[in-house]
Amino acid sequence: MHVIRTVTLPSGARVPALGQGTWHMGDDRSRRAEELDALRAGLDLGMTLIDTAEMYGSGASEELVGEAIQGRRDEVFLVSKVLPSNADRRGTAEACRASLRRLGTDRIDLYLLHWRGGVPLAETVEALEELVRQGSIGSWGVSNLDTDDLADLPRGAVPDTDQILYNLTRRGPEYALLPRCRELSVPVMAYSPVEQGRLLGHEALRAVADAHGATPAQVALAWVLRREDVIAIPKASSRRHVEENRAAADLVLGEEDFAALDEAFPPPAGKRPLEIL
Ligand code: NDP
Repeated sequence: MHVIRTVTLPSGARVPALGQGTWHMGDDRSRRAEELDALRAGLDLGMTLIDTAEMYGSGASEELVGEAIQGRRDEVFLVSKVLPSNADRRGTAEACRASLRRLGTDRIDLYLLHWRGGVPLAETVEALEELVRQGSIGSWGVSNLDTDDLADLPRGAVPDTDQILYNLTRRGPEYALLPRCRELSVPVMAYSPVEQGRLLGHEALRAVADAHGATPAQVALAWVLRREDVIAIPKASSRRHVEENRAAADLVLGEEDFAALDEAFPPPAGKRPLEIL
């Protein structure tokens, strides 16, 4: 097993290109022990970036993450998100405080605006920058912002990431958004990298996987990770899936694989609005 490649964010933070998502984790009490085990196994394997949000299970995901990282906070790069409905000056600070409490920590490493809502971006950015000054968050970023939204950010404000829907069946961002983020030196965090499992039965994906003695999930992840400025955050609630996903970081796809996948999942021919899940 190789060390997971790292990505350097504009703030200077270095994070593993493969992290762990947590949407819907913490929703079901009876699965808690397995979910905690999965997250800790991921940490042991170097998937130390954990993504959560105040929205997930109305705080249940953050509480689960808090429990999973107890005693090992320093190993983790913690990402959480503020809901757009909370993202005004006061609401952002309050939401952050509540997230910190649920996470059982005094600092969120990267705090994102979950998506763009009614609050002016300038006000949210100001509130986020104040949290950075206070030390409650290490840096701030955005999620679900398309190219025109990025252009509306206040002058000189550079997010640490744009977390977006990106996988083989959602290649729209390749046309304009990924190139724009690259211009800005803003790495992208790809959410739902296996399309919440819907992608995994695809025949072309299976054929590439078979050729490598790999699984479709591993090929889907290796494909997202082929770009050096993209981070993938698959959610896996069992140790088996976590271990499988970790191994995807070591899977190298070749030109033939990319050609076969391009054929089955064509790249965009023009600008498409950013899709959201
Ligand atoms: P994913 O594409 O990560 O898919 C998760 C599903 O895939 C789960 O059902 C999981 O099953 C299954 N899975 C994971 N690994 C494997 C594997 N190796 N083999 C087979 N099945 C597997 O979808 P998500 O929507 O969860 O996206 C990932 C994360 O991104 C979220 O959890 C969240 O943190 C973030 N996100 C952010 C959004 C935003 O707006 N910013 C929106 C959506 C997601 P199981 O749980 O049983 O292991």
